[in-house]
Amino acid sequence: MEYRSFPGIKTNPSLLGFGLMRLPLNSEDSADINYEQSFEMIKYALEQGINYYDTAYMYHSDQSEIFVGKMLTQFPREDYLLADKLPMFRIETLNQAKEILAEQLQKCRVDYFDYYLLHSLDRFTIDKAEKLGIYDWLLRLKEQGIIRHLGYSFHDTPDILEAYTLKHDWDFVQIQLNYLDWELQNAKRSYQFLVERGIPVIVMEPVRGGALANLPEAAKARLQEADGTVSAASWAIRYVASLPGVLTILSGMSNMEQLQDNLTTIKSDYQLTQGDYELLDEVRQLYLASGRIPCTECHYCMPCPAGVNIPESFAIYNRYLDTDDTAALCAEYAALGSGQPNACTKCKACEPKCPQKIDIPKELEKPQHYYEFTTAPCDRI
Ligand code: SF4
Ligand code: SF4
Repeated sequence: MEYRSFPGIKTNPSLLGFGLMRLPLNSEDSADINYEQSFEMIKYALEQGINYYDTAYMYHSDQSEIFVGKMLTQFPREDYLLADKLPMFRIETLNQAKEILAEQLQKCRVDYFDYYLLHSLDRFTIDKAEKLGIYDWLLRLKEQGIIRHLGYSFHDTPDILEAYTLKHDWDFVQIQLNYLDWELQNAKRSYQFLVERGIPVIVMEPVRGGALANLPEAAKARLQEADGTVSAASWAIRYVASLPGVLTILSGMSNMEQLQDNLTTIKSDYQLTQGDYELLDEVRQLYLASGRIPCTECHYCMPCPAGVNIPESFAIYNRYLDTDDTAALCAEYAALGSGQPNACTKCKACEPKCPQKIDIPKELEKPQHYYEFTTAPCDRI
C-alpha cells in the first residue's frame, strides 16, 4: 500500500481510503447495515494496509458512526485513522455544533478524530460557518488534540473554494474529483489551485457514486476494447491516483469484490500514459452524450416532503437510457408507488441539498415524461 507524505500531515493515510457511506445492507433501508459483511470488509482492508476510514453524521441515516463505534474500535486505535464531519447544513448555532461533535465522539467511541471536516460546504453553509465562528472553535479543539487535522469537504464552484481556502489555514481539502467532473464541474481548477498552494487533496467520488463503474454501453465498450481485463472502476481510480498532490482517495465500497478490485488497482502500476488520458477523454465524451442525469444517489435530498423517491427515479431513468428496456422501466416505476416523480409539487426544498447542483424538479420531468410516454406499453405488460 502506498502512503504519501505531505508537510503538516502527521500520520500518513493510505492512498486508498474506505468511505463508510455505502456499506452492505440487510434490506433497502440505508440504516440497516449488514454488520457481519461490513466487519469482514474492514478487517480485510486493515490487513491490506488501508488505514483511513471516513464516516459522517448522516451517512447510513445517522448509523455509520454507530457502526464505527461498535466495529472499527475493536481494532487498536493506532491501526486506523478516523475522519468525521460536521454537518453544517443541519446546524444553526455554535452550541448545536458543540453538541453534535460531542455526540459524534460518543457514537464513534473515540476521544479524538484524526481528520475532521466541515461537511459538504457551499456558499450558504460557508456563510453560516463564518457567522457562527465555527473555524475558530475547531482550531481550539485542534490545539486540545481532539482534532488532529482540520479541513472541509466542498460542493460548489471553484471561485468559492478559492476564497474560502484562503480565508483560513487548512491541513487538507476534500473535493469531488474524477475524470468526468474534471470538466463537468471544473474540478481541474479546484485541484490545481490546491496543489499550487501545497494543500493536500482528499478525493471523494472517484467513481462518481458508481456511475463510472456502470458506464453507458458505448463508453463501456470503448474501455473493453482498450483492455478487457480490468474493470471500468479501475480506470477511474487510476485517473485520480495518477494525480500528484492527492493524499488519499475515498471509495465507498459495498462488497468484498469492489474492495479487492480497488486494492488490485492501487497496488498495481496505476500511472496513466498519454494514450490512457486520450482514451478517458473519449469515454468522457461518450458519457456526456448519453444524456444521463448526473445523480450520484447520495440521498442528501431525501426525504422529499411530497414523498418522491428522487434518487431512485433518476436511477431508473438512467438505466432505461442504457437498456431501452420498457418492461423494466414499467416494473420499476410501479414499484416506486407514491414515490413517482409526478408527486413532485416543485416546492424546491430538495435543491439546496443536492451536492451535484441538479435542478431536481426540472430533471424529474424527464423520467416522468418517459413513464407517461410508455404508459400504454406498461398497461399491456
Ligand atoms: S421540488 Fe419536488 S422533489 Fe424536490 S422536495 Fe419539492 S416535491 Fe420533493
Ligand atoms: S439528486 Fe442530488 S442530492 Fe439527490 S441523490 Fe441525486 S445527487 Fe444526491
